[in-house]
Amino acid sequence: MTEKTGAVKLEKLLAVKGMNDILPPESTRWEWLEEKVRDLMLRHAYRNIRTPIVEPTALFVRGTGETTDIVEKEMYSFEDRLNGEALTLRPENTPGVVRAAIEHNLTYDGGKRLYYMGPMFRHERPQRGRYRQFYQLGAEALGFNGPELDAELMLLAHQLFADLGLRNIRVELNSLGIASERHAHRAALIAYLEKHAEVLDADAQRRLHTNPLRILDTKNPAMQAMVQEAPRLLSYLGEASLKHFDTVKTLLSACGVPWKINPRLVRGLDYYSHTVFEFITDELGAQGTLCGGGRYDGLFELLGGKPTAAVGWGMGVERVLELLKEQGQFNAGAELDAYAIVPDAEALPVVMQCLQTLRASGVSVQMHAGTGDGMGSMKSQFKRADASGARHALIFGADELAQNVVTVKSLRDGSGLQRSMPLGDAARWATDLQSKT
Ligand code: ATP
Ligand code: MG
Repeated sequence: MTEKTGAVKLEKLLAVKGMNDILPPESTRWEWLEEKVRDLMLRHAYRNIRTPIVEPTALFVRGTGETTDIVEKEMYSFEDRLNGEALTLRPENTPGVVRAAIEHNLTYDGGKRLYYMGPMFRHERPQRGRYRQFYQLGAEALGFNGPELDAELMLLAHQLFADLGLRNIRVELNSLGIASERHAHRAALIAYLEKHAEVLDADAQRRLHTNPLRILDTKNPAMQAMVQEAPRLLSYLGEASLKHFDTVKTLLSACGVPWKINPRLVRGLDYYSHTVFEFITDELGAQGTLCGGGRYDGLFELLGGKPTAAVGWGMGVERVLELLKEQGQFNAGAELDAYAIVPDAEALPVVMQCLQTLRASGVSVQMHAGTGDGMGSMKSQFKRADASGARHALIFGADELAQNVVTVKSLRDGSGLQRSMPLGDAARWATDLQSKT
């Protein structure tokens, strides 16, 4: 039985749980944000990179890390039906960017500054600020080892929040040093945790020997007092690592970015080194981390590339938009310049030709749509015009057309001012319709 026979009412199909449709007018806010991002990246000389959404599963097992929540339980992985290849919908984009950089030799003639924005997939429990398909904006600087790049990236995120008009976002910062320093700390940490085995929860016990650093950022209240007193990585850093970290802090302060050290901020992966950071708000409940990042000098080698320094961050776009809403920032601004009122369908050839000229000249204009039986009463057309939010109505009535003009009526400023404009000369008065005053 086909859907068209209508004999059986078919069940509605809905979006996958935790995956959202982004509808107008909400999508206008997304476009507004994307515009701000493009502009920001251009000013900072970061160029766009677009990598596939599907990657080999091994990329994330190695690049995100076998002992992370993401790889242990959050990935959408499947076998290619035709050749059995193990594939995964990307849960994050840093491994993909680094794979692409290695594959295309992007850093052969010096560093590259890149940014991306796109959907990521993680099988998590959906709630406000946590979805199964969500968007990440990310920036990565590949092939630079200086601390000024750590600072530049943090300034980039800071400036984006400023450009968006967001307030009350704090910056937390830590340093993970280099591998030998982390190994010395790790031994001390494991010894400490073993001494407190009775307070370790199941997760912590499992991680004790695989990823003990991650235990430090546990959210379990019963473990807080114990982790507060745990050995701190910062006290294991040598002179060079401390100097790198000091430079980052000095540069941030010089640029007016307030920061706070959080000794428990760890990324918990062996390829991270030196600076790690988060941008956090208290206005979104438990999903308050807007942006997280750090230096990951070891990742290129882990993915089969030459040793290459790198630093970057990823930002949750939904959370940023939710914070904008929370703080009353609605600069969506997709305003229509005009709404075309068409009393009689016979006028359509003339109307559509005129609108074509207006649109080519940059005017945004919505044309009234008929029903097939007719165009509808003037009253109902004016109602639609008001609802559209357009600043002007263009009236293509019989009287007007007889005189080769169109009436332009102001809808917004309360004046109701009407003017006649010559039909054949639309390009000349197009700019009038676009001026916001
Ligand atoms: P969290 O602790 O909130 O799970 P995370 O450490 O898993 O975050 P990252 O992998 O560092 O997050 O991703 C960078 C950013 O992407 C986060 O700071 C957050 O803003 C956003 N993000 C992560 N997971 C989700 C999700 N499931 N839904 C929406 N945004 C997310
Ligand atoms: Mg997570």
